Amino acid sequence: MKHAVKEVLGRTLFASRLDGVLLRNAAVIVAFHRVQETATPGDGLTVSVRMFERHCEFLRRHFRVVPLPAIVQKLERGQPLNRELAITFDDGYRDNFENAAPVLEKLSLPATFFIVSRWMGTDVVPVWDRERKARHPWMTWDQVRALHSKGFDIGAHTRSHVDLGRISGLRAQREVAGARLELERQIGAPIELFAYPYGGAHHITDANRELVEAAGFRCCCSSVGGTVATGTSPFHLPRIPISLWHRSPHQFGFEVALGRSRLTA
Ligand SMILES: [Zn+2]
Repeated sequence: MKHAVKEVLGRTLFASRLDGVLLRNAAVIVAFHRVQETATPGDGLTVSVRMFERHCEFLRRHFRVVPLPAIVQKLERGQPLNRELAITFDDGYRDNFENAAPVLEKLSLPATFFIVSRWMGTDVVPVWDRERKARHPWMTWDQVRALHSKGFDIGAHTRSHVDLGRISGLRAQREVAGARLELERQIGAPIELFAYPYGGAHHITDANRELVEAAGFRCCCSSVGGTVATGTSPFHLPRIPISLWHRSPHQFGFEVALGRSRLTA
């Protein structure tokens, strides 16, 4: 469907409060990667600062934006969800600290940052950036600590962004439990939230999901899209990636309301 059509339908849906019906007994978790001055066409992981701010204002207007642990706690207690929305970021790009955090602070919005523990403060270039001949710096540990001390939540995203659908046993355990230990050592606080790399349904095995639980995490987030229904296991939390593909917040709203989303890596 054309972007413009989706935008009009998105506006209509939200304006008519139909969204209240569609999102009854549900919550939404969105996932961002990079927030930069400008987003290059074709770069599905970056949104511009201006568009990020528009998304945030839209989310604040139409949802109850809460910290991710608030949604996890409701699910743990068997309580009904009611239009909560949590904002998350994957990987630990430096622009999260430099560009996204100031917007979130300005709008008083909570967020969770999922960090690849062995990449912070290094010049590692992941394969998806290498393919685009792009290089985006990681946060320093001081910046991760600063986010935490501002009240944002820090979560784990494995040590080195492995595909948990393809590794097993001790190697997987080191990536999952090891990331928690490394983050706790750096942050000096318990790390209880986990999002698995790549985020597709086939990017984690049942055995590795059990490792996440055994390592002491309280949740496991994917990026498969869709809303979180009341009664969902915290270890099967879907997230909706927001990217350049969403040309306006209302288009995103339309896709949420219809339970759709575009999957990104
Ligand atoms: Zn990732």
